[in-house]
Formats: sequence, structure tokens, C-alpha cells
Amino acid sequence: MAVLVTGGAGYIGSHTVAALLERGESIVVLDNLQQGHKEALLGGKLYVGDLRDADVLDQVFTENQIDSVIHFAANSLVGESMKIPGKYYHNNVYGTLCLLEKMQEYGVGKIVFSSTAATYGEPENVPIDEHDRTLPTNAYGETKLAMEKMMKWFDTAHGIKWISLRYFNAAGAHESGKIGEAHNPETHLIPIVLEAALGKRPHISVFGDDYDTADGTCIRDYIHVSDLADAHILAVDKLRSGAESAVYNLGNGQGFSVNEVIEIARQVTGREIKEVVEPRRAGDPAKLVASSQRARTELGWNPGRNKLEDIIASAWSWHLNNPDGYSK
Ligand code: UDP
Repeated sequence: MAVLVTGGAGYIGSHTVAALLERGESIVVLDNLQQGHKEALLGGKLYVGDLRDADVLDQVFTENQIDSVIHFAANSLVGESMKIPGKYYHNNVYGTLCLLEKMQEYGVGKIVFSSTAATYGEPENVPIDEHDRTLPTNAYGETKLAMEKMMKWFDTAHGIKWISLRYFNAAGAHESGKIGEAHNPETHLIPIVLEAALGKRPHISVFGDDYDTADGTCIRDYIHVSDLADAHILAVDKLRSGAESAVYNLGNGQGFSVNEVIEIARQVTGREIKEVVEPRRAGDPAKLVASSQRARTELGWNPGRNKLEDIIASAWSWHLNNPDGYSK
């Protein structure tokens, strides 16, 4: 039996594929390579195609014996989602509908879903737990919430069990040095700060310093990508053991402001990093910090790579060795 990983050639997908390979799982990857990189796959059988293409899904499900799905394939940029929400509804929501219908058709009853802290919006309580209100402040988070709700009804009607992992801010790179974060264009804070340290950018733009936080910049909870990958495997195991559907936050429980991230990156890299304050980016909540107690207790998740210095150091090592991402 194989695990189907949609979006497996992307940043978090490829680290999860690496972790699945390490434990000897058989893996099928479906990725349209819009954001993903073939080179990021350390193994598995790749189908290049889109979730919205029924023929390619038929091929994947008939040519392989899939027992569970890990679903990463989606657009995931807050800023872009505020400018082109239709792209997010089409690829994320409709794409997930196509996938769930094929799972139903082929009798595949387990899915682990790559969700996000953006489903909460501006939090009522910090740290956020899974029972807190979900009121997204951006179209990206709204589509992820819609995808979770769709899975809930496919469970009620067709018994497809799902575990949604709402992650906070993924960062860092694989310890082998073979894979890391390489988006094009890059929009995420830590890789952009490191590109500034490398001299590939003149400065880092700080999007707003007038938020209601101690230094006025946004606070986020950064979690190592390999710790996230481990949680996906625990979630697959949980579903295989017959568990009910559930939602889990994945974060460190500690928040760092944009200014603090830049300062730690200066210390880790020993390089000069210039910053320029710019207006707020649409859709950004001021503070997102997770309570991951439920994942720790129920999944047995124990994120071990949780010092921000070490997370940034692992990303820095990837950036130093791969200044042009996968295109060298
Ligand atoms: N950010 C920033 N400058 C950048 C990129 C990001 O100030 O060039 C801020 C962004 O406004 C947010 C935080 O850094 O408050 C983390 O943003 P990112 O895009 O990395 O992740 P998100 O929280 O949106 O998933």
C-alpha cells in the first residue's frame, strides 16, 4: 500500500516525503510543479499533474494501491490571496473537492490535511487552541477553512476520516542539506531575511511597525519543517489505527516578532541585514502563537528542533549552499 502525497515536491511536502522514505513507506507524489521542484523529491513515484484533472487522478488511483493521502497541494500566500482570491478558491477549494470525490470513488478513506493558523484570523486567546473561533482575515485562510469543512461532510456522508494539521510558520531545512525552502517568488520572512544576508536583496521590508505588539511588528510562531513532517507521519499512523477525524495545531508555543527574527538572523549569519519599514501587508493578523498541547498528547508529537536560532541556522546552511535554490 502506498501513501499519496499531493504537493509532495513543495517545501513541506518534500520534507514529509523524505521522512516517509526514511521509515520505508511506499510513496506516490502528485504535483503540478507550479511551486514544487522535481529535485526536491528524494524518492517516490512522481506524477506531474493537477488535482483538477480527473484523468491524472484516475491514473494515480488505478495504477497504485493508495491507502491514505497527505494533501499539501494548494496555493498558500496570504498577500496574493488578497489580490487574486479566485485563484485560491479554484485551486484550493475546487482542487480538494476533486480529490475527495476521487477518494470516495476509489474507496480511499484516510486523509491528512495541510491546514494553517490563518484559519483562526485575529485570535481571541493566545496561545490559540483548536476550539478557538475561526474567522480568517485573508482569503487563503478562508479557503483552507472551507477545505476542512468539506472534509467534515465527506466524513459524515462517506466515512472519509481526516486529520487537519493547522501549522503556524514553517521554517528551516532538512538536516541532510539536500532539500530546503525555495519559493519563486519568495514571500516568507525567514528566507527573505537570509537572502538579504546573502546580499541577494538590498534589505528586508518590515510590513508594518504599528501593530499592537511590544515592538509594533507582527508576532509569529516558527516551527521546524522536519518537526512538521514528523507530525504528518504520526497523523497517518493515527488514522491507520482507526482514529476519528480531528484538528491539531502545530507550533512551538513561543512567538517572535519580525524584528526579533531579523535580529536573531543577524547573530546566526554574522552578516549585515538592512531593514526598511513599509506599510502593513493586507490580511496579516498581529499575533499568531499556537497551543500544540493536543498534538503532543493525542498524536505523541514531540517537536525537538524548537530553538529559533537552530531553525534559522538550518535554513542559513541551505541558503549558503544553494543560493539559487534548486536551479543551480
Ligand atoms: N513579513 C515582513 N516582510 C517580508 C515578509 C514577511 O515583514 O518580506 C512579515 C509578515 O507581514 C508577517 C510575518 O513576517 O507578519 C510572517 O510572514 P510570512 O509571509 O513569512 O508568513 P505568514 O505568517 O504570512 O504565513
